[in-house]
Amino acid sequence: MEHGLDFLRGMTTRAARHPSFHQTEHAMFQFTDKQIERYSRHIILPQVGGKGQKKILSSRVLVLGAGGLGSPAAYYLAAAGVGTLGLVDNDVVDHSNLQRQILHATPDVGTYKTTSAARKLHKLNPDCRILEYIMRVKSGNILDLIEKYDIVLDGTDNFPTRFLINDACVMAKKPLIHAGVFRFEGQAMTILPGSGPCYRCLFPEPPPPGLVPSCQEAGILGCVAGVLGTLQAVEALKLILGIGDLLVGKMLIFDALEMQFRRVTVPRNPECPVCGEHPTITKLIDYDEACELT
Ligand SMILES: [Zn+2]
Repeated sequence: MEHGLDFLRGMTTRAARHPSFHQTEHAMFQFTDKQIERYSRHIILPQVGGKGQKKILSSRVLVLGAGGLGSPAAYYLAAAGVGTLGLVDNDVVDHSNLQRQILHATPDVGTYKTTSAARKLHKLNPDCRILEYIMRVKSGNILDLIEKYDIVLDGTDNFPTRFLINDACVMAKKPLIHAGVFRFEGQAMTILPGSGPCYRCLFPEPPPPGLVPSCQEAGILGCVAGVLGTLQAVEALKLILGIGDLLVGKMLIFDALEMQFRRVTVPRNPECPVCGEHPTITKLIDYDEACELT
């Protein structure tokens, strides 16, 4: 294994010495010695290599929600060397978050979640540029926000936002990695607009307010959020690297009590109101506001 690293170090030295090599290969292996060490367990993987690590370092991922799903997802993405990580959350850390939102610690209570998260992630990996967005996504701001990123990761915990994110990603043709958790269960699906189903292909409309209890009302085993958030990071990295089989057209369902994973095929719905053949939703909807009005 060490031989592989020495080889890479040799490559960077040789690249610096030979201009022709420099032009063709240097871009691929332009790592500092510290980066070679930090990412060695990636670089050594034949499916990643120096080329794949470079892709990770130049990728931009937007994490919506710095909570139970966003914490492990952002932690692993920063550790992996994702170049730009955007964190969106308008909440402050609360004592009740600490049972599962592992980016935050007791002294962070009262601090904005994005600030608390950015502090930890910067300490973990200074290669990673963290951008904080202390805001709530709405129909009026989400498209401008996701435009700057390659991949969107949904770590939010409510249906109005989940549907808004889905619709915005379909309209902007942005890859979206969805996950949700409930008590001892979780689900994950990757949405590649244009080549697979979206969240609305499965659930055309959000449930009426109050029908599905939130985490706060229903409870959640903290580490179940950890499992799903980690799976989101895995999907994001596979997508960046262009490797493996993604959860496109497949909903992965995790049952912690049975300790079982199931994969359910989700077909694309030609009648889908947002990604179907004749979409009826052509403008983003703020379900929160619609509810407040009624
Ligand atoms: Zn759809």
